[in-house]
Amino acid sequence: MSTQSLRVAVVGGGVCGLTCAVALQKHGVDAQVYEAASQFGEIGAGVDLGRNAINILSNLGVYEDICTRANQVEAAAAKELGARLGPSHQGIDGIRGWFRFHSGMGEHEVLSDILHGVHRAVFMDALVQNVDPARAHFKKRCTHLSEHPSGKGMVIHFQDGTTAEADIVLGADGIKSVVRRYVTDTASLSVDPHLKFSNTICFRSLVPASKAKAAGCKFDYSERAVCMVGENRHLILFPVRSGTLINVVAFASDPDSSPEKFSPPALSAVQHVTTEEVLASYEGWGPEVTNLLSCMDDPTKWSINVVYPPIQPENWSRGPVTILGDAAHGMLPHLGAGAAQGLEDAYLLGQLLGHSQTNATNVEAVLRAYAAVRHIRSHGVWQNSKRAGEIWDGRAGYSGVNVDEVRSLYDYIFLHPADADLEAAEEILIKDGVFARSS
Ligand SMILES: Cc1cc2nc3c(=O)[nH]c(=O)nc-3n(C[C@H](O)[C@H](O)[C@H](O)COP(=O)(O)OP(=O)(O)OC[C@H]3O[C@@H](n4cnc5c(N)ncnc54)[C@H](O)[C@@H]3O)c2cc1C
Repeated sequence: MSTQSLRVAVVGGGVCGLTCAVALQKHGVDAQVYEAASQFGEIGAGVDLGRNAINILSNLGVYEDICTRANQVEAAAAKELGARLGPSHQGIDGIRGWFRFHSGMGEHEVLSDILHGVHRAVFMDALVQNVDPARAHFKKRCTHLSEHPSGKGMVIHFQDGTTAEADIVLGADGIKSVVRRYVTDTASLSVDPHLKFSNTICFRSLVPASKAKAAGCKFDYSERAVCMVGENRHLILFPVRSGTLINVVAFASDPDSSPEKFSPPALSAVQHVTTEEVLASYEGWGPEVTNLLSCMDDPTKWSINVVYPPIQPENWSRGPVTILGDAAHGMLPHLGAGAAQGLEDAYLLGQLLGHSQTNATNVEAVLRAYAAVRHIRSHGVWQNSKRAGEIWDGRAGYSGVNVDEVRSLYDYIFLHPADADLEAAEEILIKDGVFARSS
């Protein structure tokens, strides 16, 4: 029996769950998506799509759709700037611009230029258009999984008391994943041992550009993203709605942010705070920063939670159940690489579950090969993201921003060929005698 006849369930319809549904569909594998919310949606304005993500989205036939939907003004600006990018960043005009790094202090001198991208809602919209609405089920919050009493397949239990059955369950249910609790066999513990607060928070708000100017801000944020670098703090500022709004994301981290010090999350992930609290956190910073922060209306404070310690390959999959996206490797957001890692997971799952040699009897071995390959790759990106935070927050062991080091962090992420993971997984499966080497 091929996997085409197996019932596949994707739990969670965020960017990774939807990309997974599209990837499975492309390979002829029918999947149902169970989403906790009443509709598909994304919080926040920006998502970074590097070359690795672009390759995958192109292969899935979604990239053109994203470009068509992308804001034309920003697309043109990114295209012009894209001509200056290195080999890892070519062919991504339409959704990319540059990050400019300034000192957050004193006169805010320019430290360096690095690339960045935006358009989270555009990305989500394009994915939704490629998912069969008949296979999307809303208000279906998974509470737990159990093996089917017959011994064949899984039962997915939802908060509303209903259940669904599936032969394969793919958990794309985000950083607080319920499916992760099943695959790591930790559902009975009161605290998820893999969910940690990273000792990093960020304040977020959209500030009208006209308001910032009236408050004395001098920088033009309408054309490119800016990173203000300081001690244990940095700000990410980028244009939204053709530059009429500035998306302000102001990070603050503990001076000792080593993962060993990460603790279980104590606070709710998002809280409303006062502008005074934000300003107090940036006391002593230069006028451009304090003027901008004073314009934040109803700022929110986000606790950045991560998956730590990393899920070992043997715990990524349990029988016919596995995880992807933040559920598997939620990371610090400092390289804007988290979503793209989930896309790489989704792409490989589509390729492997739709593979001509995958069938009902070997699918669990196939999921284990998926886990072995994706563990190594995503953990490398997890570590690079942590390192980037150390650089932006002045804990890199040198002052300023070393462009060569930053470029190498990005290159590891962006220069990953789309089909490299499939080749690696096939090698494992051939070595284990699960797949035959095709001539
Ligand atoms: C401040 C910040 C900035 C970031 N910036 C970037 C960036 O620029 N670029 C980038 O690539 N990444 C960025 N990230 C990370 C990125 O947002 C995540 O890696 C990405 O959204 C993960 O996608 P996901 O689909 O795995 O999880 P999510 O986006 O969390 O989606 C999970 C989905 O599952 C649903 N769900 C949850 N629980 C259940 C359940 N029990 N049952 C059913 N459904 C459920 C949720 O409603 C949601 O729709 C940032 C993160 C933060 C915090």
